[in-house]
Amino acid sequence: VNALEPAATSRANPGAGVPAAIVCRYAPTPSGDLHLGNMAAAVSAWLFTRAHAGRFLIRVDDLDRLREAPGAAARILQDLARFGLDWDGPVVFQSARVGEYRAALDRLIADGRAYPCFCSRTDIRKAIEAQGGRLPGDNEEAVYPGTCRAIPPDEAWARGRTAPHAVRFRAVGRVAFDDLFAGAVTQDLEAEAGDFVLWRRDGVPAYHLATAVDEIALGITHIVRGADLLPSTPRQIALIEALGGTAPTYGHLPVIRGDDGLKLSKRDGSLSVRTALSSGRTVEDLVGDIAFRTGLTATAAPTTVRTLLEGVRQAPST
Ligand SMILES: [Zn+2]
Repeated sequence: VNALEPAATSRANPGAGVPAAIVCRYAPTPSGDLHLGNMAAAVSAWLFTRAHAGRFLIRVDDLDRLREAPGAAARILQDLARFGLDWDGPVVFQSARVGEYRAALDRLIADGRAYPCFCSRTDIRKAIEAQGGRLPGDNEEAVYPGTCRAIPPDEAWARGRTAPHAVRFRAVGRVAFDDLFAGAVTQDLEAEAGDFVLWRRDGVPAYHLATAVDEIALGITHIVRGADLLPSTPRQIALIEALGGTAPTYGHLPVIRGDDGLKLSKRDGSLSVRTALSSGRTVEDLVGDIAFRTGLTATAAPTTVRTLLEGVRQAPST
């Protein structure tokens, strides 16, 4: 099965394939060098876009300056180019777009879709315990128990003039969409995601808000990325729609796995693209490995992204 064929779309909408003018993006976070899992996502998104003669954009998600590694953005762009991935137009840096995110936040507040939250992390844990709810794991975001939801808006915003607060999205209803690779996805937004943060207490726009604003502003039609981002996609769709945009078509690829069956991550320093290259493997070796692990080829024989693109273009359309 060719993972890059949009089978689900064809099923959901017979006769209508991917539109001619597609716009796709790869959005790295400059917290360190790309690892093989990141590169696999980039290669997959690029192949999908180029196979459909679309525009491929690069957006650097550099809002969290505390997590940013100096020079990482430039190194990531070098690595993408070294693998043969090209992109259209200038690279977009989220740090230059904070004013856009603020304007979007103000619209959501004016529409009654957002409210200030004065809870600390401890307050949230205590409220969840008091409600008998499930506490989140270490790397999980808690489903917000709704403590500040009921404060009358006038009172809440008056208090917010002096009290430190985050701003949360008022989550309502269910979100359903057809994923190109994962099939039909539905989420009860209120129960499963809860009222999530749009603007952090430390003054930084939250990831989901910035992403939603940018998908609209950049005219993104398709997003191909790792399945690890699938659970947060309904939040982004809800936000895009609340901001008056049309959600793109999503395709979440199975997360690339290492030989040991563990998900590759930045903690596996030996698996960063640069470390792999400095240990004697070539770009072609790594592209071959990525193609095999993502199910694009039957073997891990060395290859190039151009060769893979020719293969995808010649594959019979389903
Ligand atoms: Zn709160």
